[in-house]
Order: sequence, then C-alpha cells, then structure tokens
Amino acid sequence: MKRRKAPVLTASSRHASARSRLGAKRRRPLVAQAGRRGEHGLPVTHEAPPGSGHGGIKRLEWRAPTSSLADELTRSRNSFSETVESIRNLIAPGIKVRTNTVATSLNVKSTPELVILLADLGADIIRISQYGFSAYADGGDTLFVEPAEMQRAHDAVRKIAEQYPLLDIFVPRGAPRAASEEERTRAWQNRAVCSAGRYGFVVLSDGKVVLCDELPPSGFWIVGDLSRQSIMDVWNSPHIDALLRPRRSSFKETACFRCEQFDSCHENKGRCFRDAWKAFGTFNAPAPSCPKAPASRRLM
Ligand code: SF4
Repeated sequence: MKRRKAPVLTASSRHASARSRLGAKRRRPLVAQAGRRGEHGLPVTHEAPPGSGHGGIKRLEWRAPTSSLADELTRSRNSFSETVESIRNLIAPGIKVRTNTVATSLNVKSTPELVILLADLGADIIRISQYGFSAYADGGDTLFVEPAEMQRAHDAVRKIAEQYPLLDIFVPRGAPRAASEEERTRAWQNRAVCSAGRYGFVVLSDGKVVLCDELPPSGFWIVGDLSRQSIMDVWNSPHIDALLRPRRSSFKETACFRCEQFDSCHENKGRCFRDAWKAFGTFNAPAPSCPKAPASRRLM
C-alpha cells in the first residue's frame, strides 16, 4: 500500500479553537451560498466584488425566485434581496455568474419563474439539479420531486429558453435514473484513492486525531492524540494500520467477507469507511458506492 512518508495534517473546524491554535489559514470561499452571510461573503457589495479567478466566487447557490420562499428555505431574512444585489454587483464589473438551484418539492413549481428572474438579471449559466437519492436516503424524505412535476418544469423552461438563445440553461427531466450495474462498476474502479490515513489525518482542537473530518471525534475513530504523541508516532501507529488493513474476519455477514478483491481493495485505492459508517452504521461494511454493497435507495 502506498502511503506518504509524512502525513498531511488538516485542522478540523469542528472544534472552535482548532484553526487558530494550529495556525491554519482560512481559505477563501469558492462557492457563495445565497442567504448565508459573513463566512460566505454575501451580500457581494458594489465596492468590493470578489475576483473571478482562483479563490474567488465561482458560482452562486440560489434557492428560490421569491423573497418569501427564498427566506423560508434559507432560514435567513433578506437572503433573496441580498442575492439579487450580489448578482447585480458581480455582473456589473463583468464577472460571469453561474447559478445552481436544487429543485425540491418545496420550490420545483417556481422553477420557470426562477429561470426568468435569473436570465433577466444577466446570469450566464443556470443549472437546476434535482434533489436526489444519496447513499443514505431513508425513503421517508418529503423533499423528493415527483417525476411528473420535474418534467413539467423541464418543459416550461424549454419554452422560456427559446427567448434567451445565448443563455446556458439546464433543467433535469422526469425521474432521476439509477446507475446501471456497469456504470457502478466503472465508477467504483475509477474511484479516487481514499486519502484517509494514506496521505494525512485530521487534528481536532484538543489534539486528538481522526482519519477523516466527517468521522465521529470519539471512541473507535480516535487514532491518536498529539497532546501525548508525536505526529510520526501517530502516523506510524498500529491503530492506523489496522484501519487501513482490516481483518477479513471482522466483516462477517457482509459482502466484503466473501469478496475476492478484499486485499486489493484495501491495498490500492481503499474502501471509504466514512461512507460505510454513514450508510451502514459500522466500519465493517462495504463502501456504499461499491457495486457489491447492498442495494438501497441511491444512485451511487
Ligand atoms: S468494499 Fe467492495 S470491493 Fe472492497 S472489499 Fe468490500 S465488497 Fe470488496
């Protein structure tokens, strides 16, 4: 298994003092989310629009075309007016604006209205993505859009698009499609190498170490403690080794136990145990994106 000789350390922001204690610099926002203030830089002001180059705002998340609906969805007062203002202030100095809106059962009916508003504001690219199944959907979600509803929005926007020939608009149609077995296998083979423990680890504010920022900061998942150990002691610890090269016998009753690729899976790109834990509640389970993982409501 390829591992870096020294780890890349990530300071987790889940604990308040982590960044300042470890001297981590705050990164500039790549995505501004409409309705969130301060951290994401909205509203974008007329005096100081962000640059459009590296580190600047690349796209705007937009929730709804009316003030009441936008404020309700973002749970932020004035999010609508601030987003409109932000778009105007981005477009004025010539910055291209691309928006993305997730269509849910709450806002899908307003999709045509939204597209007209954004087109009239001067957006260059408008993307509507459908609220979809994740690996962890439990089936009780009321935000899913009925396929017929999505199709209606698609058809209405197609007509609107005829009036804006230069605009790049995409609205999905109908029901989201589950990936085929072949697509899932290809995606699994082409998955990125899991960096957790191979390239680095995450240091929490109290010095405890986990392998991924999204894992619970307690118990089984703590692989070291920098208040008592050196970085290299943690990095070379048997604990990390045990997570990266787990025993097959601890996977009984799962697809991994019978998997002929068990060793190569862990030796090469790795199995995302964060997703395994999120999907199945345990470290000892396949990554949900593996084609051998139990079927569930997901597109992975
Ligand atoms: S995650 Fe998939 S490929 Fe990897 S060991 Fe488990 S079943 Fe096999």
